[in-house]
Amino acid sequence: MKVGIVGIGLIGGSFAVDLRKEYRNVFLVGFDISPENQERALELGLIDKKGEASDWSSLDLVIVTVPVDAMLKVLPNVLDQISDDCLVMDAGSTKRQICEAVAGHPKRRNFLACHPIAGTEFSGPTAAHQGLYEGTTMIICEVEKTAFKLQERGMELINKVGMRVRYMNPEAHDKHIAYVSHLSHISSFMLGKTVIDKEENERDIFDLAGSGFESTVRLAKSSPDMWAPIFEQNKDNVLETLKEYIANLRDFKEKMEEGDFKSVYEQMLNTNRIKEILKGIPLTKTTK
Ligand code: NAP
Repeated sequence: MKVGIVGIGLIGGSFAVDLRKEYRNVFLVGFDISPENQERALELGLIDKKGEASDWSSLDLVIVTVPVDAMLKVLPNVLDQISDDCLVMDAGSTKRQICEAVAGHPKRRNFLACHPIAGTEFSGPTAAHQGLYEGTTMIICEVEKTAFKLQERGMELINKVGMRVRYMNPEAHDKHIAYVSHLSHISSFMLGKTVIDKEENERDIFDLAGSGFESTVRLAKSSPDMWAPIFEQNKDNVLETLKEYIANLRDFKEKMEEGDFKSVYEQMLNTNRIKEILKGIPLTKTTK
């Protein structure tokens, strides 16, 4: 099997490592806008060769893992170049605009719209590693628009890397993911900002930072190159989550100002239910 990876960073590189382990005789071709990342991916053995224009027609599968703004242009270009028998999957963290970008493409049936609920706060080919996808969920949108034979090729890959599948429409995906992923990142970025702003001249305070602080600001290490386009593409849903989040923060502050610590206690107690809610839910190892 000859596989092309477009955007050979954390997500694409981690697929490459798993594919090499799971498929005999897989040949991996890496395309990237960054010559450094492409070279690094070759050195690390993530890919067998750097992609060239002549490779497109011989690929059986292409996994497109570029940031979501680039995805809107890259995906139609990839579909233009592949053979009729090639499957193209993406991994973009938004789905509505991506699905719209290929909706009228003559090769729409070659495309499977995917979002792996797996990842870390690190990026680039050096962040790629084996087993990133094991035990996590792959969200697939508009599966009925993909040719059945090619769906099977995609499902085989998803099963082999250890993922389970959840089907959703693109609008529902973007709405729900705004709460559990996009809002979490904003919350982490703004917590990090609040503490940095306050403690800029008091570096000692970071010596006091414990594991609670570290785990809550972990996502603030994520790449703005990846996240700014995600917030832009999912602006309406993200603004809705922010409205609700800010209302909760304001309410909490008002309760404290009023000295209503019984309500403060009850809100926290009620939210402890998250332990039960998350128990048994197949979350990614890194909460992304
Ligand atoms: P990454 O590590 O930064 O890798 C992306 C790679 O694509 C980089 O090498 C980047 O080069 C390259 N690239 C950018 N624009 C390109 C273009 N027009 N053509 C070819 N290559 C291009 O990012 P990632 O974390 O793997 O994320 C990739 C995709 O997966 C995104 O769509 C993201 O929404 C999705 N995703 C990410 C996670 C996560 O936790 N990271 C989880 C699920 C889904 P430069 O560095 O030079 O820009």
